[in-house]
Amino acid sequence: MSMETLFTKIISGAIPSDKVYEDDEFCAFKDINPAAPVHVLLVPKKVIPEIGAAAECDEGLLGRLLLSANKVAEQLGIAESGFRYIINSGAHGGQEVPHLHLHIIGGRQLGWPPG
Ligand code: 5GP
Repeated sequence: MSMETLFTKIISGAIPSDKVYEDDEFCAFKDINPAAPVHVLLVPKKVIPEIGAAAECDEGLLGRLLLSANKVAEQLGIAESGFRYIINSGAHGGQEVPHLHLHIIGGRQLGWPPG
């Protein structure tokens, strides 16, 4: 039985969202609490609770996650101006939703280091 998370409910449409990209393996939708003018979450449909829980068999998925993020960044119009990809993990990493996701953030000058 596959695990249900907030993001599986968003992917299935049970919880409404503003989707910007979807294919067989991934779904991307706007973050409900955006940290910048562009803030999208790219989520594998396979539930991996956190990046550290990814297995050898997820090698291809993780590569395609980044390549798909590039497609989404291009589609969102931030590929040239620049952007940041973030994967939060665990308590100190600030991860709220236990379903691996990549934040795609851009549309303004981003500060460094992050808080
Ligand atoms: P995390 O802290 O786990 O890396 O990121 C979770 C993200 O999910 C947060 O940026 C938060 O704003 C976003 N989020 C939480 N609940 C919802 C929701 O119901 N819909 C959408 N679109 N985003 C959500």
